[in-house]
Amino acid sequence: MPNQEAGLRGSDLELVQVTKRYGATVAVDAINLRVKAGTYCCLLGPSGCGKSSTLRMIAGHEAVSEGDIILGPTNVTDLPPARRGTAMMFQSYALFPHLSCADNVAFSLKMRGVAKAQRRAEAMRLLELVAMERYAERLPAQLSGGQQQRVALARALITKPQILLLDEPLSALDPFLRIKMRAELKKLQKELGITFIHVTHGEDEAMALADLMVVMNQGLIEQAGTPREVFNAPATAFIARFIGGHNIVADASGAIAVRTDKLRLTKAVNGAARTAVVSDVEYQGSYVQVGLAADFATELTANLSEAAFDAEPFNPGDTVAVSWREADIHRLGAAT
Ligand code: ADP
Ligand code: MG
Repeated sequence: MPNQEAGLRGSDLELVQVTKRYGATVAVDAINLRVKAGTYCCLLGPSGCGKSSTLRMIAGHEAVSEGDIILGPTNVTDLPPARRGTAMMFQSYALFPHLSCADNVAFSLKMRGVAKAQRRAEAMRLLELVAMERYAERLPAQLSGGQQQRVALARALITKPQILLLDEPLSALDPFLRIKMRAELKKLQKELGITFIHVTHGEDEAMALADLMVVMNQGLIEQAGTPREVFNAPATAFIARFIGGHNIVADASGAIAVRTDKLRLTKAVNGAARTAVVSDVEYQGSYVQVGLAADFATELTANLSEAAFDAEPFNPGDTVAVSWREADIHRLGAAT
């Protein structure tokens, strides 16, 4: 019996050695991942690393080359999309232009043969959930981008999925709306208690949303953990560079990462183990960003609190001693 009709809610998702090949291209390379029920999971990584392929395999829109996708007690690897208990939220332009919001939302119930009155009632309930009930009779073209996104969300949720899959859902929105909509997504996910798997290439978006942040690189999962775990202890130089906010420094044992807000600078350079020359100073409001040229790192940045900077200001051309606490060092795995 399909997951959906069995009424199973709150199942864990497991990817076992999942691989996707397009001809000779290995887009996803034998990844393993467990996502507990009710998790906001972000798949993060640079363009081409395999995020969308992974999402589409979970949705059933792309065949798995090798491996298994398990949802709760069911191996869904070979099930069609509508029978998996997953739903994909497509971008706003995937709304049918000639159908009202209510009819767009009700569409998949119509396909399933649900009677008109019932699907109308369900569609209105979902439109209420995304605060769009007042716009039920409007056509998509009569809505703003953010409103279209909400309708698309309602349309995906009407099938009562256990897992909602979202591929860069905020990328078409302007920066202000993007931040507003991401807060709405997070709130909605908590209210529904279902799993969201959200693909993004923006580390700030992933940090803001994710309970579980999965960083991909070249078809592999390079690190999975909470945003804090990943930010405080990036596993590799790739991760440290990709999520930003870190300096990568070569030392005797290999490479280490030190957060930009953990560097200490002082003009007293006598006996200092490491020195650098200030190349630029930028006031950023809540902190001052000091760019440094050094022979022990290709790029070096110190973010100082305004108070710390004011206590000992620096100017371009100053030679400074650079140090950090032993506790603020994170050793990095082999570079990829
Ligand atoms: P992302 O979403 O992280 O940008 P994708 O999963 O879209 O990455 O793509 C991963 C790799 O697979 C890329 O090298 C991409 O060019 C390739 N790829 C994706 N879809 C196809 C396809 N339909 N046919 C051939 N190659 C593809
Ligand atoms: Mg993609």
